Amino acid sequence: MRKIMITGATGKLGNEVARNYISEKGADNVAVLARSAEKAADLATLGAEVRIGDYNNSASLETAFQGIDTLFFVSSGDINNRSAQHKNVIDAAKSAGVRYVIYTSFQRVNETSSSPIFAIAEAHFDAEKWLKESGLQYTFLRNALYMDLLPWFMGENVISSGTIYLPAEAGKTAFVLRSDLAAAGAKVLAETGHEGKIYELSGAQVWSYSDIANILSNITGKSIQYVSPTLEEYTQGLRAANVPEQVIYMFAGFSQAIAQGEFNHPNGQLEALLGRKATDAETFLTAVYGSK
Ligand code: NAP
Repeated sequence: MRKIMITGATGKLGNEVARNYISEKGADNVAVLARSAEKAADLATLGAEVRIGDYNNSASLETAFQGIDTLFFVSSGDINNRSAQHKNVIDAAKSAGVRYVIYTSFQRVNETSSSPIFAIAEAHFDAEKWLKESGLQYTFLRNALYMDLLPWFMGENVISSGTIYLPAEAGKTAFVLRSDLAAAGAKVLAETGHEGKIYELSGAQVWSYSDIANILSNITGKSIQYVSPTLEEYTQGLRAANVPEQVIYMFAGFSQAIAQGEFNHPNGQLEALLGRKATDAETFLTAVYGSK
């Protein structure tokens, strides 16, 4: 039986991929990569083998990847260092004799440095390029923008203030629930025949922030409006509130990218993998705000 390994298994996406896979196929051939055994204790309890490795430490990765046939490689969340980390993972996979890498990439249109989220997306472009050059078999799961980020983007006072305040104009996004991506990823991992494929994983629907405001109004019974300030007004406001520059870059960058249609790509690929409808924004937002 081919041995598989899931990286990022102590994180939200990787943990759900591991759990979905184990509930479908059992844990006999499952290893997970973790930086600390304690954090992966839940998966050890389910029968997974926990191996220790750090994306910053090539030797630890090469040791951890021994005997692995298929690597489910969850991209790093360390925005400042992840290109080098991704290179370490790919090189170590090759040296250790891994056959096949399933990489959690990112959906996009603009791959140039003019993209407002280039600093975030670049490490994914790098990883895809290096995997293509590596001679390893690969699948790219180009995950759309997490729906789970909406409460973070909108801010904790969105209901009490009655306003979504983001410079995303009328841009529409095919937001996708991370759990749906995990379920689809686990399927790709469990099945055969996905080598060489590039999946654009978004649902079939798109939402603007005006749409989200209407949904929130219906859920809460309170009037929620959407205001799209200019980029300058927005960033000045965040600076005045002492928000760290990297957070401003993320909020402003993703909003601008949404305004430019970077994530306006509904398609049927996620639903085809899931064999069901993707979770919609009404369902997600009701779960988050319905009882508030
Ligand atoms: P998460 O909960 O932050 O999980 C990240 C995982 O990566 C954790 O298991 C973490 O381990 C591991 N990791 C981080 N640095 C590492 C290192 N140096 N060596 C080994 N493992 C390391 O993120 P998520 O929500 O599951 O998302 C998975 C990935 O998707 C993110 O890392 C990011 O690349 C990407 N992402 C995509 C979107 C989107 O909208 N599509 C949004 C956010 C993120 P520890 O538990 O030890 O920290």
